[in-house]
Amino acid sequence: MNIAQTDAPEIAPQSTDPLDHLADKLFHKMGTDGVYARTALYEDVVERLAALISRHREPGTEIMRFPPVMNRGQLEKSGYLKSFPNLLGCVCGLHGTEREIHSAVSRFDAGGDWTTSLSPADLVLSPAACYPVYPIAAARGPLPKGGLRFDVAADCFRAEPSRHLDRLQSFRMREYVCIGSPEDVSGFRERWMLRAQEIAHGLGLSFKVDYASDPFFGRVGQMKAVSQKQQLLKFELLVPLRSEEHPTACMSFNYHRDHFGTTWSMADANGEPAHTGCVAFGIDRLAVAMFHTHGTETAKWPANVRELLGFGCTTTELAG
Ligand code: AMP
Ligand code: ZN
Repeated sequence: MNIAQTDAPEIAPQSTDPLDHLADKLFHKMGTDGVYARTALYEDVVERLAALISRHREPGTEIMRFPPVMNRGQLEKSGYLKSFPNLLGCVCGLHGTEREIHSAVSRFDAGGDWTTSLSPADLVLSPAACYPVYPIAAARGPLPKGGLRFDVAADCFRAEPSRHLDRLQSFRMREYVCIGSPEDVSGFRERWMLRAQEIAHGLGLSFKVDYASDPFFGRVGQMKAVSQKQQLLKFELLVPLRSEEHPTACMSFNYHRDHFGTTWSMADANGEPAHTGCVAFGIDRLAVAMFHTHGTETAKWPANVRELLGFGCTTTELAG
């Protein structure tokens, strides 16, 4: 409920973005840029995209669904703070005595700042869906021949506020992950780079696949990004949502080499440090891309796209 009325002159609308026209149909504002409530129209497409990705799951893939938070120590150990400290969201709370907590709340009641009494919990907001799977897999002991494959998903958080609808702070990420020998992982990534392009083609999206780097923090980070590109460790499937020059990454294909294998002491079937790789689907970006490409009336989407997304059956039937 908002009963406040002001006589302040209306603020001139900020320069418009090519995706802005979708906002009213897809989202409800929640007071913070990049954090939105989703409409039924939007969520229906999200569920159909997720079901489509599930139908492409390779046999022998284990499914896990993660909550939006993960253990802080595990993320620290994964090296996230060295690479993306600026993007991390940390859970914090009022952990003091009853008297200290009362005094923080009283400060707020008196118009003061209660947040100075916050201290960190042992949880962070998951910045990507795959981080929690590596320690779980490592706890199971040596990897079998051929490695392991997982299907994971989580609500992810990255502190990158933006008014652009394809750059959210809270978004859904779905991933297929491979843990095994270097050959297991490179084969997995090659298969998925082809399969993902077939999916994007079927969805009627225009796209290109290019090598890429992560937004590593700081000056040293820029060197990490150059090295990541030189070694072709990351590819992205890019859709030109607002311009051809600055397309939006809707999927990524990542090879971590032995980073997580060494971190979590995982050995492949040959006793060598395990290699890992993942293919990540930015489900929210894919959904925005679909509405941008085909319009906001799904009934008017091309027949082959509607068929691929199972329009005509319910999402419960789709999930099988
Ligand atoms: P990354 O780990 O950066 O490769 O992210 C995996 C996928 O998540 C990307 O390909 C995007 O589709 C999606 N993604 C990353 N950042 C955002 C964001 N800020 N808003 C929406 N989707 C995102
Ligand atoms: Zn991943």
